[in-house]
Amino acid sequence: MRVAISSCLLGAPVRYDGGSKPISEVIELAQKVEVVRVCPETASGLPVPRPPAEQREGRVYLSDGRDVTREFDLGARRCLDALGRSPVSLAVLKAKSPSCGVGLVYDGTYSGRLVPGRGVFAARLEEEGVCVVTEDTVKSCKPSVEHPVAIVLGSGLGHLGSLVRPVRRIDYRDIEGFPMSAKPVEGHRFEATVGTIDDVPVVVYPGRIHLYQGYSAAEVTALVRHAHHLGCRDIVFACATGAVPGQAHVGLGILTDQINLTGRNPLAEWDGLRDVESPFVDMNDAYSPYLRTLARGVADDLGIAVEEGVYAGVLGPCFETPAEVAALRTLGVSYVGMSTVCEVIMARALDMNVLGLTLAANESGATGVSHESVLEAAGRHAEDFERLVRGVLRLL
Ligand code: SF4
Repeated sequence: MRVAISSCLLGAPVRYDGGSKPISEVIELAQKVEVVRVCPETASGLPVPRPPAEQREGRVYLSDGRDVTREFDLGARRCLDALGRSPVSLAVLKAKSPSCGVGLVYDGTYSGRLVPGRGVFAARLEEEGVCVVTEDTVKSCKPSVEHPVAIVLGSGLGHLGSLVRPVRRIDYRDIEGFPMSAKPVEGHRFEATVGTIDDVPVVVYPGRIHLYQGYSAAEVTALVRHAHHLGCRDIVFACATGAVPGQAHVGLGILTDQINLTGRNPLAEWDGLRDVESPFVDMNDAYSPYLRTLARGVADDLGIAVEEGVYAGVLGPCFETPAEVAALRTLGVSYVGMSTVCEVIMARALDMNVLGLTLAANESGATGVSHESVLEAAGRHAEDFERLVRGVLRLL
């Protein structure tokens, strides 16, 4: 996987003051991928050191008043040209910079105040379809013993749990809010394992309960709140789905977004709501673009066939009618399933980084689909699924 990274984050003394901002988490990532180092400001020919620059009213000025908009454009273009020869799907750029910043940049008063915006180079990369994040995203997704990666597994995918080197096990019945009476359906086990996979700290939940079994949205999201209480910041949801014909094929998929068609929301129920700061949760980029891009890169590197698409969560438990399949296609849905959407809402309300992976075990609307056939399809893709998850964990 090729990743463009700001040179100053890797320790190169290219900043305006002649220094750098090495970030250990970014340097670690750089050791695991093919890196293209970029510094648009030095690529423009601006000297090091130089006065600091900030954006104001669409232009860029040095603190001595010089307008360097042309130089910033030139540097961005030169770096883009270099990347054009060796394309990247991900860029990790220095936060807040007038060249590299994403989301927030300095406001042009040289007072340290920030305003919403993008650096000149970051904006160009985003226009090219590159996933652009700052070092803050890499740091926030970095697992540790205090912040293990939570992995919630769906039908037939529970085998991943056997890869964990266990430190301790947690009976679901000891998890607050999880219904004591719940019994696992075939292919699920109700015991979480805390431990490591390939030395990455994880908590694996090898089964879940569903709305269609009569549980509330708050109950089906109890595992998410538990993971958050354990310190997890990243959460991987894996689920079995049907592939909507014309939109996706049977096989593995990366979820890009979701449509909640269950009619339920954990944030509309007190048990779901009480742990969150606000129920008015921003659901843009609910599935982390950074984690999605890593998953795509791992799949490409390992030759794993993976598609991407929007997930629609329905109440179930019956499968879709032909009219419903047609409607889902019209809505732009690639995958339809009976879990995950409420969990993702809960995870986002708790500010967790979400990766959604699916095994489309059958075509949505197909006849002859049974729980057994889903398990059988899961078995066929289990190895690729495990390679994919392990590959992503390795990069975090
Ligand atoms: S923020 Fe970007 S332009 Fe500025 S020194 Fe770092 S790499 Fe160079």
